[in-house]
Amino acid sequence: MPDANVKAEAPPQDFIREIVRADVAAGRHGGRVVTRFPPEPNGYLHIGHAKAVCVDFGVADDFGGTCNLRFDDTNPVKEDVEYVDSIKEDVRWLGFDWGDREFYASDYYEQLYRYAEHLIEKGVAYVDSLSADEIREHRGTLTEPGQDSPFRSRGVEENLDLFRRMRAGEFADGTHVLRAKIDMASPNINMRDPVLYRIRHAHHHRTGDEWCIYPMYDYAHPLSDAIEGVTHSLCTLEYVDHRPLYDWCIEQAETEHQPKQYEFARLNLNYTVMSKRKLLQLVAQEHVDGWDDPRMPTISGLRRRGFTPESIRDFCTRVGVAKKENVIDMGLLEHCVREDLNRRAPRAMAVLRPLKLVLTNYPEGQVEHMDVVNNPEDPAAGTRKVEFSREIWIERDDFMEDPPKKFFRLAPGREVRLRNAYLVTCTEVVKDASGAIVELRGTYDPATRGGDAPDGRKVKATLHWVSAAHAATGAVRLYDRLFTVEDPDGTATKRGVDFTTLINPASLEVLEGCKLEPMLAEARPGTRFQFERLGYFCVDPDSSPGAPVFNRTVSLKDTWAKVAAREGA
Ligand code: ATP
Ligand code: MG
Repeated sequence: MPDANVKAEAPPQDFIREIVRADVAAGRHGGRVVTRFPPEPNGYLHIGHAKAVCVDFGVADDFGGTCNLRFDDTNPVKEDVEYVDSIKEDVRWLGFDWGDREFYASDYYEQLYRYAEHLIEKGVAYVDSLSADEIREHRGTLTEPGQDSPFRSRGVEENLDLFRRMRAGEFADGTHVLRAKIDMASPNINMRDPVLYRIRHAHHHRTGDEWCIYPMYDYAHPLSDAIEGVTHSLCTLEYVDHRPLYDWCIEQAETEHQPKQYEFARLNLNYTVMSKRKLLQLVAQEHVDGWDDPRMPTISGLRRRGFTPESIRDFCTRVGVAKKENVIDMGLLEHCVREDLNRRAPRAMAVLRPLKLVLTNYPEGQVEHMDVVNNPEDPAAGTRKVEFSREIWIERDDFMEDPPKKFFRLAPGREVRLRNAYLVTCTEVVKDASGAIVELRGTYDPATRGGDAPDGRKVKATLHWVSAAHAATGAVRLYDRLFTVEDPDGTATKRGVDFTTLINPASLEVLEGCKLEPMLAEARPGTRFQFERLGYFCVDPDSSPGAPVFNRTVSLKDTWAKVAAREGA
């Protein structure tokens, strides 16, 4: 945890920026800094991608360079424009701007094809006609070298002819592939004649039916970087073993620009999954309500939940860029949004599980307008008027008929403060035939307007409240961790179960009939508030006029800050 406590204000210093700084100083790449964020449009972006976005755009920004948004759309069967659109929305929302540099690997198909012919002509690529299974069998293992394909010695002319006919659509899927001719005995399996092109008669979301051969990621990626003049190609650690192939492609294709790849640790968060395949499974099997379900670790889910772009960028800065994998506590992400919203979110009062308190000595029909501070952290936010009247909603669990020792809130005969209003005393508990509490009666002390007693007497609790005659009614969604265990992936593997069996059945609780300050009914979707004593809440797009729906972003209890303080971090 300590290394996740870097002060957000400190300018980021990390090994990647050191490399870039040295390159700029030495005039490498002509002093230019060009990075790219290269998502494959086969899913929505998640918080791990946010880290990559912050690194790619952040490094470019720090050195006066540029960052391209490049869609790595080389797998037609898994990709979709819905994903392209969501990715653009999410990157923009995070606060980054790619200007006019929106690129697609599919825009380079012709150029990539020409590079491939060049490799064939040089004798460093060949058409293999083994089946996928046979290729796998020939590949060898970590301890045994692979074996050459019988087609490895095909001549240049035959290879060119076959490759052109592959492109022309003469062959069925899986009958031939183009492979790099490198070294079947390489200790690095990625270098054992990797496949560069495969035949796939599939419709592509951008190129339509123009192509029936598609380049592999490991081939398309370095060459797309080179075509764009990328200087520093930043990616996650799982690509370390692919770097020799990255360099091989650049070298053999003899590209004008020579980008270099650098790898940093991916972001791992506890209590969630981050593989796009698994997120897609959660959506497809309806374990969640879409990619933007507020329990998802997706950017769209976090946005709907009420996270701010600032809090996510702050989180990414604190997590930092390192070479060692670790797991970050979800509590840190929540801490970041609390800090941000504490500064910015206006306060409001809302009663989630209402219980009526009737003040029997308060004049019937009287309404007072209490002055309430909108945000104690932000004097510029000003004050507002909140109605007070004879019947008040308070929180059901702020009352106990027979309170244990440590319960200081309302109880029979006890006086508490209604925040910004009066001191009130409970005088009577009204029950229904079954004995359930349906209402409280009490009295207020008219001399305590604003909440303080002139005689200086103290009360031990301050409650939030809403005037019953004025309250709006709405729904509130409370969220908990999506999974019951810290490491859903690892636990599922260990127990031999599907990870979806570890979903927390209590991850969503919907409360209807919540009583809200009237102004909350008019707030637009996306507006955030602190509900006094309850946490931060955000208006959900499911709201309709007169029927607001709020998502709880986080409660007020900051577990991460406590842990960090205890560890002296
Ligand atoms: P897959 O390739 O399995 O579909 P992916 O998460 O790697 O999933 P990409 O679209 O290839 O998806 O990722 C785009 C960029 O985001 C890549 O540069 C990748 O390294 C980076 N990235 C993905 N996941 C993380 C993560 N958890 N932390 C940091 N960066 C990540
Ligand atoms: Mg990837």
